[in-house]
Amino acid sequence: MRLSQMLFVTLRDDPADAEIPSHKLLLRAGYIRRIGSGVYAYLPLMWRVLQKVSQIVREEMNATGAQECLLPQLQPAELWKESGRWDTYTKAEGIMFSLIDRREQQLGLGPTHEEVITTIARDMIRSYRQLPQHLYQIQTKFRDEIRPRFGLMRGREFIMKDGYSFHVDEESLKATYQDMYQAYSNMLRRSGLAFRAVEADSGAIGGSGSTEFMVLADAGEDEVLYTEDGKYAANVEKAVSLSADAVTSQFIAHEKRETPGTDTIDTVCKFLNCSPTQVVKNVLYQTVYDNGKTVLVLVSIRGDQEVNEVKLQNELTKLAANYDAKTIIALTVPSAETQQTWAAKSLPLGYIAPDIADEYIQGNQQIHSQFLRFVDKTAVDLKNFVTGANETGYHVVGANWGEQFKLPELVVDIRKARPGDRALHNPEQTLQSARGIEVGHIFQLGTKYSVAMGATYTNEQGEEKPLVMGCYGVGVSRLAQSAVEQSYDKDGIIWPVAIAPYHAIVTIPNIKDAQQIEIAEKLYKELNQAGIETLLDDRDERAGVKFKDADLIGIPYRIVTGRAIANGKVEVVERATRKSQEIDINEVIGTIK
Ligand code: ATP
Ligand code: MG
Ligand code: MG
Ligand code: MG
Repeated sequence: MRLSQMLFVTLRDDPADAEIPSHKLLLRAGYIRRIGSGVYAYLPLMWRVLQKVSQIVREEMNATGAQECLLPQLQPAELWKESGRWDTYTKAEGIMFSLIDRREQQLGLGPTHEEVITTIARDMIRSYRQLPQHLYQIQTKFRDEIRPRFGLMRGREFIMKDGYSFHVDEESLKATYQDMYQAYSNMLRRSGLAFRAVEADSGAIGGSGSTEFMVLADAGEDEVLYTEDGKYAANVEKAVSLSADAVTSQFIAHEKRETPGTDTIDTVCKFLNCSPTQVVKNVLYQTVYDNGKTVLVLVSIRGDQEVNEVKLQNELTKLAANYDAKTIIALTVPSAETQQTWAAKSLPLGYIAPDIADEYIQGNQQIHSQFLRFVDKTAVDLKNFVTGANETGYHVVGANWGEQFKLPELVVDIRKARPGDRALHNPEQTLQSARGIEVGHIFQLGTKYSVAMGATYTNEQGEEKPLVMGCYGVGVSRLAQSAVEQSYDKDGIIWPVAIAPYHAIVTIPNIKDAQQIEIAEKLYKELNQAGIETLLDDRDERAGVKFKDADLIGIPYRIVTGRAIANGKVEVVERATRKSQEIDINEVIGTIK
């Protein structure tokens, strides 16, 4: 492309409404243009960047066997009513643009596509033989954000890759989730970004496990808490820690589970260096999260133990506040008397019947299955409930609690984390804080949408089961701007080579010099032929203006056909390092490639 023919306008001064460096630079360098609040035009240079990012995303998705498709942006309200999301998404703080067509039908502009894909799956997937499936698309999304800002970072119209997978069971879902974790890491690495994968909250999308991919930058709207040893990283909304003041001599051992449900009483015994009986006599508890709304606390208390239920209730209420929880359920093995007291007070507490108590204290496998049975039986709506403790949760054991039975000290040990808190996996590690830009988010959805919308398949035994789902999103346009936020200097953008709109720019300092033009034209042609995407700055401008613009738009290599051509050489300047070399004209391709 010749700059003389391109719609290319750069601005000398920072635009007034841009707050962060990447937004300023993309506007100044002529990559984007604001059309309205949170609505931007992607100009030719930007579109090339977005296509490069999309292509990296596409390659990584295809490599996992996911299939590209394109879903409608106009979505009938009925689908959203079926899933139960229409009201929350269209009310005052909701983010969906809704409209009414000429037939008085309600529609929404797609902010995300769970409803659309689930209706397709409901129609097309019949049998376990068709599973698993994974479909994705790269498309414009619409969200009426409350605070659109920072250019492409938070637009009301933006490009997302969103993928949805369908499975027979959780195990198959987890395999795909793991593939996505890897694919997302690859995408970001290939795009030249420094990032961190963090445990995250599932928010309005719903479901259990979720991981966010955070590009580290001061302008990030999210806060990430992590430990130096790299073993813990979570969005601050989700992060938990040991409460700093609760770390006393009472705290003996703690463990973050690596493998679901595999730590048994034996493991605990090793930690505490004591016998199983001692452990059983002590208190064992687990917390289970349901995307921040419900916290289930499993308190295993021997039936013959006295329970101070007032204290317990107080502590659970405190815990609920720590987690912004709406419901707290303690599963205990209380005495018959205690059960009666609780029932009389209608405390939001559940319990495991004494007849299964023995099994309950055998080990966590049993606890887990009993727990699930309990969930089946209970009237509490736990459809979307996730057994976080057996996946990503925590399991804390204290030694002195047994004899004295001091539940309060136990319960306050885990809390919503703040920077500087001690980490659960190791109290010697403290939580550090960093700013992050959420560029990707992967979710294990489970059966939330398939149950709500009746999307089922028939298993090998001929039974009808709800499809188990996952969904995976990456903000293509946000990712592109994040790259700038991570890589610029006082003169402009420094694109990572993989997503730069062009790899090289040939600059003709003096457009009146026929020899300069001839060499530049030759190089321009040869570089493009060699597959090095090259711009030619053949504008009738002063050399200084051209150099400034080349720096501003951030093309990785600048080739200048200046004075050195007298010696058969050109100047090659690397944008990132500013390293300048004089290179033989016929060695330029080899040097850059
Ligand atoms: P945020 O917390 O920043 O509002 P989100 O959690 O609502 O994002 P998801 O629903 O997880 O976003 O969507 C997947 C990805 O889409 C995000 O990780 C992000 O990269 C991108 N994204 C979301 N909202 C926007 C937006 N308004 N503008 C640009 N990209 C966005
Ligand atoms: Mg959002
Ligand atoms: Mg988010
Ligand atoms: Mg998200």
